[in-house]
Amino acid sequence: MSRHQHSEALYEAALKVIPGGVNSPVRACRSVGMACPPFIQRASGSKIVDADGNTYIDYIGSWGPMILGHRHPEVVAAVSAALDRGMSFGAPTDLETRLAEMVIDAVPAVEMVRMVNSGTEATMSAVRLARGYTGRDDIVKFDGCYHGHADSLLVAAGSGVATLAIPGSPGVPEAFAAHTLSLPYNDADGFRKVMKAQGDRIAAVIVEPVAGNMGLVPPLPGFLETLREETSRHGSLLIIDEVMTGFRVAYGGAQSLFNIQPDLATFGKIIGGGLPVGAYGGRRKIMERMAPGGPVYQAGTLSGNPMAMAAGIATLTRLQAPGFYENLDRVSDRLARGLKSEADKAGIPVSVSRVGSMLGMFFTDGPVHNFSDAKTSDLERFTRYYQGMLNEGIYLAPSQFEALFVSAAHNEADIDATLAAAGRVMSTLAG
Ligand SMILES: *Cc1c(COP(=O)(O)O)cnc(C)c1O
Repeated sequence: MSRHQHSEALYEAALKVIPGGVNSPVRACRSVGMACPPFIQRASGSKIVDADGNTYIDYIGSWGPMILGHRHPEVVAAVSAALDRGMSFGAPTDLETRLAEMVIDAVPAVEMVRMVNSGTEATMSAVRLARGYTGRDDIVKFDGCYHGHADSLLVAAGSGVATLAIPGSPGVPEAFAAHTLSLPYNDADGFRKVMKAQGDRIAAVIVEPVAGNMGLVPPLPGFLETLREETSRHGSLLIIDEVMTGFRVAYGGAQSLFNIQPDLATFGKIIGGGLPVGAYGGRRKIMERMAPGGPVYQAGTLSGNPMAMAAGIATLTRLQAPGFYENLDRVSDRLARGLKSEADKAGIPVSVSRVGSMLGMFFTDGPVHNFSDAKTSDLERFTRYYQGMLNEGIYLAPSQFEALFVSAAHNEADIDATLAAAGRVMSTLAG
């Protein structure tokens, strides 16, 4: 009998009423040959439990938000206190100002911030603002970076688009896609050439400062600096998309780690503490172009939702604890080194990368500096690794082109168990 029989039944029911049975394609587990995705019943700390009662050590963390682990007591208390006062008012509350102040205090480049409901909304709005502010239409992104599913950003995208090998999405008019130029990640020279030729038509350059949607690909020294220099030179705005990296790789995000100040930055995932939140912010002069003060329009019925703001405030407050990121870094480093060493012992070529608590392991010799490199990975081997790890009780993202997230709830015993499992699975992967 399958250890996923309840999930299989739930998936069958879902398939009848939801396209592909899922509300976000990456959840489907199709690319890794699974009959169904595990349906989740509950989670706590570093553990997640599926509908068949299987318990896993969770390295997806809701795709990034759960940096404190699931159901952190302070976050739960803050959300239930907000719930007691009402679920949504469609009117300003003090909580919105407080979360905005926390983002501004954390990120020097952000002087004003607008809350939205998802990372997609944040990047879509930032691009619109950049176009409205500069009076230009074209934008530059990088192959394998994912910035949500807005029309202009679904070109050569990472995450599910990469996993499912979708070249460009039907439904995005060619005329829209024509305004988006996608270049190889980490190619500073190539970028410089493009800016030299057409920089005066580029409204914005948007980048994942650490690419986490094609597996994990850190920026090479000088890459982000080149983006900053060239955008300044040509009057284009630099948008650093910190939806994944913000409050993850450091409290101030990747921009603090690499010391790069963008014109606009986008957030999501962690700032909602597990509830749907996104945000975009930047220099006051630019942000003041937004309605109602300025002419660039963007709105949201549920934006700044009180429960979501409360979850964000509680999460960020917790992240300010002394030593928080040092501890997370230490645990994550042990995991990254351990995975590499288990692969080495089994004679399986892998390229492991890590920035803070974001990890990637490509089944290739590497090095992996861009999406073409990432695509040299042995996907068939990844599938066997994924399935083996799931059987061992380790819940990984079901794609070679996604990152792993370690949370503060992962302890030494979790890492020991994960590495022991990896050792057993790796030993079956040769050939
Ligand atoms: C997840 C992600 C998004 C999209 O956020 P959603 O909340 O899924 O819409 C955008 N940019 C990056 C870098 C992301 O990782």
